[in-house]
Amino acid sequence: MRKKIVAGNWKMNMNLQDGIALAKELNETLNSNKPNCGVIICTPFIHLASIAQFLNQDVIALGAENCADKEKGAYTGEVSAEMVKSTGAQYVILGHSERRGYYGETPEILKEKVLLALKNGLKVIFCIGESLEEREAGKQNEVVKAELEGSVFNLTAEEFKNIVIAYEPIWAIGTGKTATAEQAEEIHAYIRSIVAEKYGNEVAEETSILYGGSCKASNAPELFAKPDIDGGLIGGASLKAADFMGIIDAWK
Ligand code: PEP
Repeated sequence: MRKKIVAGNWKMNMNLQDGIALAKELNETLNSNKPNCGVIICTPFIHLASIAQFLNQDVIALGAENCADKEKGAYTGEVSAEMVKSTGAQYVILGHSERRGYYGETPEILKEKVLLALKNGLKVIFCIGESLEEREAGKQNEVVKAELEGSVFNLTAEEFKNIVIAYEPIWAIGTGKTATAEQAEEIHAYIRSIVAEKYGNEVAEETSILYGGSCKASNAPELFAKPDIDGGLIGGASLKAADFMGIIDAWK
């Protein structure tokens, strides 16, 4: 049985004090009310080391939102995968459309980041998804396939087991516009089929594929009820414990 996951992506929100307070609240709530799924919080770099000190990572795992495409050295302002790992984090989000769009992260750059993350023992939440224009042109399958081929299909099957895929249609991120459960299921099933073509059925069946894009407590049950949707990557609704818990409870 593949892992069901609800992962939060805090993006550039929460100062250190507010972030610690939110992580403590989630830690306490989830330790007394155990979730029926894996829970991950991905936070800005500056929060990681502090949160790792108190988070029970058997219940909530910690992740970063990015890492560098270089191992170490004179890259002012960058944070390496090794540094992320040394904080106690276990995951890193790579390929988010905001990184691709605003920071020019190409498939080649992402390929390097993925390799370095895996080399340093991090698991990767790898984001893919089409723009509104691409969806309207019926190109969504082509786009997600190219994104996988460009950055993760070079991995061995063994390495690929450390990848969680997040399908995030760009037109649904932070817009309040969610893909319908049927639209999401259709493309999740397609993504699983191309993973199967590349790595075989067994790996495809074990790969968690999360949906992201305006997912909230009210629509999570319908999305998560679909056979190929294994949970969510949550932006806005991961910033308040009650909202995030509402989504986690969709697995109950
Ligand atoms: C995201 O950016 O990963 C995301 C899914 O954002 P939101 O939930 O706010 O749409």
